[in-house]
Amino acid sequence: MNTKSMPHVVIVGAGFGGLETAQKLAHAPVQITLIDKHNYHLFQPLLYQIAIAGLVPSQIAYPLRTIFRHQKNLTFQMGEVTSIDFAARYVRTNGSVIAYDYLVLAIGGQTNFFGMKAVEENGFQLKSIEDATGTRNHLLRVFEQASREVDPDKRRALLTFVVVGGGPTGVETAGALAELITHVLTKDYPEMDLNEVRVVLIEATDSVMATYPDELQKATMKLLESKGVEIFFNTRLIDYNGQTVTAADGSQIHAYTLIWTAGVRSAQLTDRLGLQQAASGRVRVNPTLQLPQHPEVFVIGDAAYLEDGKGQPLPMLATVAQQEAKVAARNIRNTLKGEGPEPFQYRDPGLLATIGRNAAVARIWGLSFSGFIAWMIWVWLHIYRLIGFRNRLTVLINWAWDYFFYDNQIRLITRE
Ligand SMILES: Cc1cc2nc3c(=O)[nH]c(=O)nc-3n(C[C@H](O)[C@H](O)[C@H](O)COP(=O)(O)OP(=O)(O)OC[C@H]3O[C@@H](n4cnc5c(N)ncnc54)[C@H](O)[C@@H]3O)c2cc1C
Repeated sequence: MNTKSMPHVVIVGAGFGGLETAQKLAHAPVQITLIDKHNYHLFQPLLYQIAIAGLVPSQIAYPLRTIFRHQKNLTFQMGEVTSIDFAARYVRTNGSVIAYDYLVLAIGGQTNFFGMKAVEENGFQLKSIEDATGTRNHLLRVFEQASREVDPDKRRALLTFVVVGGGPTGVETAGALAELITHVLTKDYPEMDLNEVRVVLIEATDSVMATYPDELQKATMKLLESKGVEIFFNTRLIDYNGQTVTAADGSQIHAYTLIWTAGVRSAQLTDRLGLQQAASGRVRVNPTLQLPQHPEVFVIGDAAYLEDGKGQPLPMLATVAQQEAKVAARNIRNTLKGEGPEPFQYRDPGLLATIGRNAAVARIWGLSFSGFIAWMIWVWLHIYRLIGFRNRLTVLINWAWDYFFYDNQIRLITRE
């Protein structure tokens, strides 16, 4: 097959949306260039596991050149797209200019600090491998510091861990952090008084897991409390200087660790494209996922803004990105055949979040589960969704080891 004369599809971003689009076009009569600023696909839902020393980065990231080794109609290019000329139909990266017939923008999102510079500079986030390993190093380092700190106030501040945001990422991080401390670190630091350690979850509204049904919100709270997590509702963070967390009502918590999980927005590039943006900077698209003025351009995943049947924006989730990718790929194929594009409709596969060992909440096929059954579903689903047999196997072995021996093995401080 001579792919050179075929229409050129450029896909920017090899996250959940970009990867799925590329795979769905494997047998289409197109040549594909996939561009990403990283040379790997990252399974973001398990980033917090790196932060809590449960997994290593290579277990949740997979090299793109390996994934696409056998896809003959695809070329991968590592590079950051800096601008796009929609009229002339080319993208500019930090090293090249690439023309396209069809463009799929799947550039994802980034953490939204809502303009709070101090929180961005002094807090931690979980969006990249660097963020997660940086958080792990910091968590382990403050334990080392606390173990030799004689001032009780400073020691308590070192041992206070604040997680901001009561959504699934915040809940998962707080639950896992509490377990790392109670099950693992207390064994490493027998001299430490466990009563001095606090894991605090701060939430601006009056509920955790706001999008989950009532019974699962209650189950989540119970599970978090059983793991020793303190939950502060109706508490809006306004400042963090690296040692003191300040809320809008003036209350303060002294803590050397703050992990921010309370906001996501579209990737930075979306602000520079001159396109119509909606909430969280996401690019407005037609129901067919095309740009209104440029039907040859598709935007999918976290970067795209589309509403569901009830007028609510589709959530920034991997499941949305993957389903949109299928429709974008199908619409490109339809267009090539001279057929019209089809609209996107999200099929909600359910909700799932873990709160640590034997503890998760799930809503599947209209049924709510919590506790061990939900946790087993979570474990198997996440192992199934990882890319690569080796990753699946090593993650399974890691988790089994941690489960039976109460031991997070990756407790290495690797960066100053
Ligand atoms: C900690 C965490 C936990 C999560 N947990 C869940 C969960 O449990 N379930 C769930 O469904 N979703 C979860 N999500 C959300 C999910 O990861 C995102 O919704 C999903 O990744 C969006 O897919 P995407 O393809 O739009 O973008 P991404 O997967 O973010 O991929 C975007 C890609 O674009 C690349 N890129 C960005 N800008 C450029 C540029 N200018 N040039 C070149 N490349 C670029 C990036 O390197 C990246 O590879 C979680 C997210 C985080 C951060």
